[in-house]
Amino acid sequence: MPFRFADRPVLVTGGAGFIGSHVADRLLEEGCQVHVLDDLSGGVRENVPEGAVFHEVDVRSDAVADLFQEHRFEALCHLAAQMDVRRSVADPQFDAEVNVLGLLNLLEAGRQHGLEKVAFASTGGAIYGEPDPSVNGGVSQPESHPTLPMSPYGITKLVSEHYLRFYNDTYGIEAAALRFGNVYGPRQNPHGEAGVVAIFAQRLLRGEPITINGEGTQTRDYVFVGDVVRAFVAALGRQGSGIFNVGTGIETDVNELFRHINRFTGAGAEERHGPAKPGEQQRSVLDISRTSEVLDWRPEVDVARGLEETVEWFKERE
Ligand code: NAD
Repeated sequence: MPFRFADRPVLVTGGAGFIGSHVADRLLEEGCQVHVLDDLSGGVRENVPEGAVFHEVDVRSDAVADLFQEHRFEALCHLAAQMDVRRSVADPQFDAEVNVLGLLNLLEAGRQHGLEKVAFASTGGAIYGEPDPSVNGGVSQPESHPTLPMSPYGITKLVSEHYLRFYNDTYGIEAAALRFGNVYGPRQNPHGEAGVVAIFAQRLLRGEPITINGEGTQTRDYVFVGDVVRAFVAALGRQGSGIFNVGTGIETDVNELFRHINRFTGAGAEERHGPAKPGEQQRSVLDISRTSEVLDWRPEVDVARGLEETVEWFKERE
């Protein structure tokens, strides 16, 4: 069966970046006409797949409305973002300009020019805060978990989900918000939520020392980019709206991450610990039951295999 959005083009914002470029690849495989919008502030031109039409445009610019008028995008995959948690703390205004006003610029253009569906890159890692012991016994965080973002970045992602709901209710634009865990894989950069993978891989491959913050027992839900893309595209193609956690349901701590990457790089580095980072979130792990059920999706790549593939990619680049 042809993919749901095959008549008019699909716009992928952030398609020169890590996850967005993998989404663009996959949509081309599905037979979609893919346009990529990216200002190349974080992404690179070479990530944009050959079959996609590229627009070097900022999500905040007036050019966005012209593009929607000209191409009448049927669906929008919105992945462009100020995605650096630290930068959002240092400059919350810039974070909100890109993440909130940028989204509104796209949605306003979309509602005037026939946009039918949005799939949005949200975050589970930065929206929920620490697991609440009264939900699921604190074992994992379902979509119904209280939201207590600890950074301006988490706040703008949560606000974005509310705007999407508003545009859905008011203008009938369907919206799927995918709350990612910490996404890692080929093409990732050191600034994202799973930046530690890129930092460890690059440093170990260069023979540079690593200092793990504190005990290294901080956990995250690391999910491989290929699995994220399958969930993202499934949510895009499905009729209706919703919020979906996209992780593995498994916690991995920094020490385990270090040991895997140390092994795959062949660096044989010593495990060294430094002072803990004050205020750092201790645990994050997503409950993926709802996503598995509704989207008929499960992660297929475990953390060891995914890290091996990621390290191979960094090796080729170094
Ligand atoms: P990335 O930096 O590789 O991709 C983001 C892209 O957005 C870049 O290509 C960048 O050039 C582009 N961009 C930034 N500002 C822009 C602007 N003003 N106008 C147009 N383009 C702009 O990051 P990523 O890790 O691929 O993240 C993709 C999305 O997934 C982001 O929305 C991010 O918040 C979200 N997300 C990522 C993770 C993760 O672990 N990587 C976790 C949760 C959510």
